[in-house]
Amino acid sequence: MSTGRLNIDLGAIAENWRALDAMTQAETGAVVKADGYGMGAGRVAVTLARAGCRRFFVAMAEEGAAVREALGPGPMIGVFGGHMAGDAALIRDNQLTPMINSVDQMLRHVEALPGHPIGIQLDTGMNRLGMEPAEWAALRDIALAQTPQLIMSHLACADEPDHPMNLQQLHAFTQMTDGIQAPRSLSATAGHLLGRDYHFDLTRPGIGLYGGLPYAQARTVVTIDLPVIQVRELAAGEAVGYANSYVAPHPIRVATVSGGYADGLIRAIGENGRGQLHAGQVPCPTVGRVSMDLITVDVSHLAEIPDHLTILGLNQSVDGLADAAGSIGHEILTSLGARYHRSYRE
Ligand SMILES: *Cc1c(COP(=O)(O)O)cnc(C)c1O
Repeated sequence: MSTGRLNIDLGAIAENWRALDAMTQAETGAVVKADGYGMGAGRVAVTLARAGCRRFFVAMAEEGAAVREALGPGPMIGVFGGHMAGDAALIRDNQLTPMINSVDQMLRHVEALPGHPIGIQLDTGMNRLGMEPAEWAALRDIALAQTPQLIMSHLACADEPDHPMNLQQLHAFTQMTDGIQAPRSLSATAGHLLGRDYHFDLTRPGIGLYGGLPYAQARTVVTIDLPVIQVRELAAGEAVGYANSYVAPHPIRVATVSGGYADGLIRAIGENGRGQLHAGQVPCPTVGRVSMDLITVDVSHLAEIPDHLTILGLNQSVDGLADAAGSIGHEILTSLGARYHRSYRE
């Protein structure tokens, strides 16, 4: 087999959820959008439902349908994108809860699916999704008459605990929702870590479940091993890869592994000299450009060439790899391609 092996530790995802849940008096939900951050939304949702999670979130109705199929009836599945044109049947048939983002969405919803449960999304300053204060003031009574299952907003800067935007949004959310009976939710992973002021009734962690920052204590969820296809010796002055971007300053040994940007191992990993893979515990730097299907790695210092090198795992987290590429863990995880041989550990 020459494809990379992507192992997903479902038990670690469940443990990360339990550990986050243990930090709060509030309920802990789970965000499983983008196919569970690339980990398989259905598998992840079933695992977390067994751990006790009762509220799941996706970005769009189609994703919600897949999660409902895996979960069966019962748990809430909230749709951040709300009720879009053409979604009524999906929302009804899969018992999804659209987070209504605007007056237009509210009208669409009550017309197509009167009495079907909703949530409400408010904009508290991020200017991305949700009703702004004036729109909310106009719609509030009508919305509350439908006993929303959740009223939520989203923090723009929670990964910087001292950013003034956090308090500003906290105050805006409190002002817009005070006195309301419906359960309230403001925080994703980063807000969850800001402490109980930010928890309200429910938090919505995503990346922390999958082993990413800012939840530094997270257990490792993803391992990717790339098979070594070929090894060669280079003399000083010989170049590696497209555009001759790396030239060996002295004789080196280069391993070519199976995996590249088509697998979500983005080209930026190879661009600033900080990319690395591991042979067991031993780091091996990438040399030259990342190609579509291949990465070249300096293995001169290894006594023995292993049959694979590890690009994600205990010795290099998603954030370690993301850092080398000037990206974030969220982007690395959700970019991992369809070509891996995926396997799950329970
Ligand atoms: C993606 C998302 C989350 C989860 O964010 P993480 O940073 O992955 O924890 C929560 N809420 C909303 C509205 C989101 O879009």
